[in-house]
Parts: sequence; C-alpha cells; structure tokens
Amino acid sequence: MHKFIRLAEQNLRCHNYDSKQDFRLSAVIVRGGNVVSTGFNKHNTNSFVEHYTDIARGPRSYCLSTHAEMDAVLKGRERTNLRGCKIFVCRVRNDNNSLGMARPCVICQHVLYNYGIKRAYYSIDNNTYGVMKIDNPAKNYYENDRVFNRSHDEIENFDLESLVY
Ligand SMILES: [Zn+2]
Repeated sequence: MHKFIRLAEQNLRCHNYDSKQDFRLSAVIVRGGNVVSTGFNKHNTNSFVEHYTDIARGPRSYCLSTHAEMDAVLKGRERTNLRGCKIFVCRVRNDNNSLGMARPCVICQHVLYNYGIKRAYYSIDNNTYGVMKIDNPAKNYYENDRVFNRSHDEIENFDLESLVY
C-alpha cells in the first residue's frame, strides 16, 4: 500500500471523530514527498458544497458534509499553492475496521481540479488502492482510474463500479 495512504490511515486511527460520524476518512496532500496539509471528514458543511449545491443536492445527500479532501484543501490553501500536489485519501470502515473505498466524489473532484491537484490515490480495501487522474470532474467516470494491489502491481480489468462507497 502506498506509504501516504498508510499515513492517512495512521492519522485517521488517531483522530477523535464525532461519535455520530457514519464515515471515517482522512486525506493527506503531498508535494515532492512532503506533507503540506491533512484533513478529516466532519458533519458541518462548507463553501465548496454551497458552490456545487446542484450536485450536492442530488441523491448523494451526505455530500453536504465536509469531506476529508475538502478539509485538507481548506487548511492547505491558507499556507501554500496546492497546484501540482497529490492527494491521498483513506477510509476505515466502521463495521469491520478494515480499509474501505475512499474514491473522491464528484464534488471533491471539482475542488481538487480547481486547486490544480490532478492526481488522487485512494484506499479500496486492505489489499488494494486506486489512482485517479482528475482531468475532467464533470465526467466522474472510472476510465482514468488504475488499480494496484499493495505490492504495487497494477490490476487489469478491476471493476470499480462493483464496489460500494
Ligand atoms: Zn467528496
């Protein structure tokens, strides 16, 4: 598993989440091997969600909360230009405590794209992670994703759509 996804996992397991939190995700923004920001999902909304409210009001109503990627961008943009950075996102499942699907949602894709973050690495399960090229958030297709197992071997024909968030 990629070391910065592992770092995001470590941050997540140490983080004191609101007990009402249904999901536990953590994000790490990296430039040149250095962490420039970290974030966690939280209940409250934010200006990004308000900006993309048409998308947020779709069937995925949980998008109204602050996602870990948004939290990391909101903190990081105050300190540095995020253009060219990479983001690593990890989710730990509440039901069995293993790693789960953390692929950035379409609102986060818009946010990341607007800040010049063009690549996202995300956990899928304990053995698998995905790499997503964010070049056209409006599409939100899986065709730009590649999936790797923890030994970094690329997995061909992995069906991402079969996995639930
Ligand atoms: Zn999101």
